Amino acid sequence: MAPRITCIAVPTPFRIGPVNCWLIEAEALTLIDVGPNDPPSLAALEASLGELGFGFADLDLLLLTHQHYDHTGLAATLRERSGARVVAHEDLVPFLAGGDASNAAEDEFAEQIMRIHGVDEPAIRHLREGARKRWRFGCSCPVDTALRDGETIDLGGLSLRAHHRPGHSPTDTIYVDEELRTGIVGDHLLGRISSNPILHRPVHEPADPARRPRTLVRYLDSMQRTAALGLTQALTGHGKPVDNVGRLVEARRLEHDKRKERIHEIMAPGPLTAFEIAGVLWPRLPADQVYLGICEVLGHIDLLADEGRIAEVEADGLVRLARV
Ligand SMILES: [Zn+2]
Repeated sequence: MAPRITCIAVPTPFRIGPVNCWLIEAEALTLIDVGPNDPPSLAALEASLGELGFGFADLDLLLLTHQHYDHTGLAATLRERSGARVVAHEDLVPFLAGGDASNAAEDEFAEQIMRIHGVDEPAIRHLREGARKRWRFGCSCPVDTALRDGETIDLGGLSLRAHHRPGHSPTDTIYVDEELRTGIVGDHLLGRISSNPILHRPVHEPADPARRPRTLVRYLDSMQRTAALGLTQALTGHGKPVDNVGRLVEARRLEHDKRKERIHEIMAPGPLTAFEIAGVLWPRLPADQVYLGICEVLGHIDLLADEGRIAEVEADGLVRLARV
């Protein structure tokens, strides 16, 4: 009989709501994603494990899907309390080890991106202060086993292949049981909302806001590669599992295509900053969502630039986007 895979929904203090952690009862008791570093999340996780007949000490492996706090925040605490090995894609290793230094570097990069794309200084300050307050939900944690793209990890009675799927973040990784054709996908694919292609510091190049990572281009490519795996089920990081992965990927691709055309339309009257475009797309965008809005716009700008339909013009430290 295949080992049981159970969803443990852990509450988070974030807008997204609970995060799904996946417990796999193989020979190695494995938890994929761990929840944010917040006492109520820790207590809820402990209670849910208890209902399934386990305690933290029983955990052998902690697998992580990507760098966001809601998925990794409790890694250091659980590693300490269980002695479990932390397993993650190799690109997550420096970020996770860095703790607050990683967070500070991320915030600095986001600030530079916002500044050159037209966000005003009070809004930048507000976002930076908000981001700083969220550092406590993360942690600094060593990774005991770093995985390469395509590598498998044997849990005893079940093995998972790790596929690197950058886009939502540079470290997104999905874990696939090829026998069950099931993937544990974190935020790479979500059923009810499209995953934001968030601009993070690049892992392998210097962080230069003028040469930002092409997150949406990478994300669309990652999604196509996931669709090609022919999964019958994706166990997602939030919300319900997705059973028709190919159809979801196709729907997401069409949504991005539509949004790309809408952004091109918005640019008809003349050059605009990414912030101005975001303001037209989402007139009531909450202040704490401004960076996500900018990331979404810039992702589509990259697609339009690849098609030779727009150009970026920089003057006095401000980037304006114009049709060509
Ligand atoms: Zn995420």
